[in-house]
Amino acid sequence: MPILPPPRAFAASVPVLIAGGGACGLTAALAARDAGVDVLVLERDATPQGTTSMSLGAMCAAGTRMQREVGISDSPEQFFADVMARTKGETDPDFVRVITREAGPTVEWLADVHGVPLSVDADWRGLGHAVPRLHAPPDKSGAGLMGRLLQANERAGADLLTRAHVTDLYADSSGKVHGVRVKRPDGTTEDIGCGALILATCGFAANHEMIAKYIPGMGNARTFTWENSQGDAITWGLELGAAVADMGAYQGYGALAYPQLQLFNYTYVIDGGIMVNTEGKRFSDEMADVSGQGVNVLRQPGGVAFIVYDDALHHKYKDMIETRNAMELNAVKFGKDAHELAAALGIPGDAFAQTLADVRAVKNGTRTDDFGRTFAETAQLNPPYAGVKVTGALYHTQGGLVVDGHGQVKRADGSLLPNLFAGGGAARSISGPGASGYIPAAGLCMAMTLGRLAGTAAAKMTGHKK
Ligand SMILES: Cc1cc2nc3c(=O)[nH]c(=O)nc-3n(C[C@H](O)[C@H](O)[C@H](O)COP(=O)(O)OP(=O)(O)OC[C@H]3O[C@@H](n4cnc5c(N)ncnc54)[C@H](O)[C@@H]3O)c2cc1C
Repeated sequence: MPILPPPRAFAASVPVLIAGGGACGLTAALAARDAGVDVLVLERDATPQGTTSMSLGAMCAAGTRMQREVGISDSPEQFFADVMARTKGETDPDFVRVITREAGPTVEWLADVHGVPLSVDADWRGLGHAVPRLHAPPDKSGAGLMGRLLQANERAGADLLTRAHVTDLYADSSGKVHGVRVKRPDGTTEDIGCGALILATCGFAANHEMIAKYIPGMGNARTFTWENSQGDAITWGLELGAAVADMGAYQGYGALAYPQLQLFNYTYVIDGGIMVNTEGKRFSDEMADVSGQGVNVLRQPGGVAFIVYDDALHHKYKDMIETRNAMELNAVKFGKDAHELAAALGIPGDAFAQTLADVRAVKNGTRTDDFGRTFAETAQLNPPYAGVKVTGALYHTQGGLVVDGHGQVKRADGSLLPNLFAGGGAARSISGPGASGYIPAAGLCMAMTLGRLAGTAAAKMTGHKK
């Protein structure tokens, strides 16, 4: 992954070159095309999917017309306050101001200018967001989002080269990037020059050496991520003298169906479901920290837990992709009462029945919750019940290259690298230093908001008009 001295000339060159064709890269390409600039996206895989395709496809954004249309009053200021509270102030407020201000316009621009339909997913509430502000495509899936972004790129005339693994950067002693080297599946290489380079190759969740180095506490933990998240952008950036920050930050998740290793939707928990361990007991306020819940689950006996809900919630959400997958894989167990479900899940019936009785008492206001959960706006869980065995995992990293408000990469001394940009998982996020600062849907917010900002700025920098 070295930085190579630039050749005299490149056989082919584009003003704006983008490494990585996930949500960030494709959004950056749209922004560059809006500025009338030629752009080429280089994607390692045969079909662009990335971490984005594994996601629920939702990004957080505030003050959008989509929120207003369904009567949700929100603002960038409220979003900013929520992020600062979630991170306990341990993040860069100036950067958070930019992201929380620009996320809303990014959602509206994607929908109104580029035909990427995004609407508010009201099922995702709480977990740090004062009001519902997750915006998702109609099928609420990352694969659906990728499909829409790819169609938009085609309409906008953005060029995409797949099976194009960027292995090296060409840069001079000032840190100016002149181009990249691309390796093709047959082993041949191609050199492509550029006016500006946007790094959109995501983070390092799939690079076990980097995880062991930067997040040692999760060195042996399961990861559930896209295998190309190898930290390439961070490696190149560091070689060029870039600053990195919050390298210990990541999003965990405690709702990976086990042993099927399929994403299960946290909506059941948000809407009043609970999580118990193999002893049939709750172990946390399930709503306190959805990212940190991954570690909470891993700390339970056997590193597993169970999401428990009822028949009403099962029917309400039975058409979600994650539910359909879990049903097909026989991951969802049912019981006509607490003891029958406990038997199906293999946990002690009496303890589990007591847990359900305690939750009932909390919900009807006759006792307070041992873990401080309020269960606000959720109904009682009534038999028959359903449950899914889950485990925790590290999903994606949140530390990365430090960028300015236009996605341009900064050096350790605060100065800017001449023509290098980064966004999405490649850049330092708004999550602060650990696992608890992640606010739901910040990953795609960073990818698409910074993608738009970086694409716009890189196009302006190159000044090449089509
Ligand atoms: C299970 C799961 C669920 C999630 N759900 C959500 C959610 O609902 N909302 C949310 O906001 N976030 C979610 N996230 C996080 C979110 O998916 C990521 O933050 C986001 O997709 C990052 O986008 P990206 O464009 O930076 O990276 P990616 O989507 O991973 O795209 C990077 C692309 O770069 C390519 N690439 C890598 N290296 C190279 C190279 N050297 N040369 C060429 N190409 C390269 C990769 O193949 C990939 O296509 C979830 C993550 C996981 C794992």
